[in-house]
Amino acid sequence: MVMAAVLTPEILADPVALTRALVDIESVSGDEQEITDAVEAALLAAGRLSVSRLGNVVCARTDLGRPSRVILAGHLDTVPIADNLPATIAGDLMYGCGTSDMKSGSAIALHLAATVAEPAFDVTYLFYDCEEVESERNGLFKVSQQQPDWLDGSFAILLEPTHGLVEAGCQGTMRVIVRTHGTRAHAARSWHGHNAIHDAGEVLRRLSAYQARQVTIDGCAYREGLNAVRIAGGVASNVIPDRCEIEVNFRFAPDRGEADALAHLREVFQGYELEVTDSAPGALPGLDRPAARQFLDVVGEAPVAKLGWTDVSRFAAMGIPALNFGPGDPNFAHKRDEHVEIPKIRAGAETLRRWLTTPAD
Ligand SMILES: [Zn+2]
Repeated sequence: MVMAAVLTPEILADPVALTRALVDIESVSGDEQEITDAVEAALLAAGRLSVSRLGNVVCARTDLGRPSRVILAGHLDTVPIADNLPATIAGDLMYGCGTSDMKSGSAIALHLAATVAEPAFDVTYLFYDCEEVESERNGLFKVSQQQPDWLDGSFAILLEPTHGLVEAGCQGTMRVIVRTHGTRAHAARSWHGHNAIHDAGEVLRRLSAYQARQVTIDGCAYREGLNAVRIAGGVASNVIPDRCEIEVNFRFAPDRGEADALAHLREVFQGYELEVTDSAPGALPGLDRPAARQFLDVVGEAPVAKLGWTDVSRFAAMGIPALNFGPGDPNFAHKRDEHVEIPKIRAGAETLRRWLTTPAD
């Protein structure tokens, strides 16, 4: 039997040492048992949290009877390592797989769980697996299906890398295939057919003429995008093609739902067959909630829009506003030279501690 790595009270008291300890427990998606055991043991050792586990997801809750409950969440898995373990430190930087995305963030959450005895809100700490792989394996998705009560709360913070900024909400994404139809014929007698690839020209013209919308919600600017990302067509070099497919990706601001986004695409590509192949809703920033406002007060900086799709959307789908706030630099996530700035870990931990311990108004 392999002993679970021990996260001692000294390590738990220091978010930087804890980041390093978590980074040094290898946990590529699908292989999170050891790190989850270590995190669970640390949460149980705190002695004042109700700790539950589902596979390699751990949930730890305070039950202090506070008027509202907030959620701090982080994934424990990483992308495959790239000769970048164990962690190394050079000056103010800690290098290693997961330092930015997102063991520094998860370390802050675990550090707070272990050291903040009397938060002003009730807090649910969630640590989950398989964020870096397909959605069906995502630990947070499994919780939403099997233990939705764990996600009960009025506001959630995901400690994904944002370089210490508040990134609110997230954009939605939809992929569609726009299809043109023609009639096959021998290329030597092309007037007997109709060329579906030529018809794609009009689809591409609409895309290049498209003026993407920019909207501001709760002070965050969301910039949409509509782009062809793949094109396929053709039968053989002597055949007039009868079919062409243009794959289009629409990134849409969170004031549109998926149905609105699809209706918009039908308008843009009116006259063409359209098939949806993938879709995920965005998330409104929801910064008007009291817990969110208090958090922004403590941070003291304006939030920015999250332009990618993240797990905040899973909270939004359950009616819980959520934002990203983590010490890692997202530009170094998943890279061989992935690293985190050590002062950002300390600053992030301090900000969240101040927010959790400032009496609610
Ligand atoms: Zn991540």
